[in-house]
Amino acid sequence: MRHALLVSVALFIAPLTDLSAQELTIERVKDGLYVIFGSGGNVGVRVTTEGVILVDDKYPQNFEEIQRLVGTVSNLPVRYVLNTHHHGDHSGGNAQYLPLAEVIAHRNARDNMVRASQEGQPRIVFTDQTSVYLGGVEVRAYHMGTGHTNGDAVIYFPDLRTVHGGDLLHGTAPFIDYANGGSSKGWVTTANNILALPFDTAIPGHGAVMDRDDVAAFRNQMEAVRARMTQLVASGMPAGQAAERIRAPELSWTMAAEGLFMQRSIPGLYQEIAAEIGR
Ligand SMILES: [Zn+2]
Repeated sequence: MRHALLVSVALFIAPLTDLSAQELTIERVKDGLYVIFGSGGNVGVRVTTEGVILVDDKYPQNFEEIQRLVGTVSNLPVRYVLNTHHHGDHSGGNAQYLPLAEVIAHRNARDNMVRASQEGQPRIVFTDQTSVYLGGVEVRAYHMGTGHTNGDAVIYFPDLRTVHGGDLLHGTAPFIDYANGGSSKGWVTTANNILALPFDTAIPGHGAVMDRDDVAAFRNQMEAVRARMTQLVASGMPAGQAAERIRAPELSWTMAAEGLFMQRSIPGLYQEIAAEIGR
């Protein structure tokens, strides 16, 4: 009975509640740098004396709330938006920002948006690295290799020793987007490239703010998951058993309740490793 009651309440509330428009919160990371949590990817907010630089812009329906929260930490307008990659929970606000600001992404991220007919395609792209200079502050964007996709940007705030890694860093478990050029092997190299930067604080695409040790642990788990899958594939395990057999308590991603890693990344990881070792 209790269960039935919950269901009927949920049905009653559902039409009034839009989960993707859930309340957002803004928190200070360092002086001049904030992060907006909730609904979609974490948004970096770099405040300068000449305007605001955003890293990612969540979903289209979050635009007004992002603008309101930016207004609580700066009186100046958003002048630039840097996209960490093309996924709609990170670039969904682009179409509404393009009349107000310059939106910048890696060339491959823009290509992925074009292929998916996404709105809000950036007018400016980069390949290896670019920088925005505003109000005496530099915000640098690097493409450090493949990983989550083939068009990931790592955003670096040199004066604050902080990075925004987009979905190259994830608080729960990563998604390897093979359909858009993602790669676990590339991800290890890219994570090492991030670790080569002088930083002490990292904003992930989803989840709580990290430190250097958290980023190293993320890299280590990517290596450990790859090693375990390599062992399983080499033993002759069929692809259909990969999701079950790779589970291990010491690999938190394989135990994550969300299941995103297991359902969305494991089949492709099997294929990637099988190709690597020629099985
Ligand atoms: Zn993503």
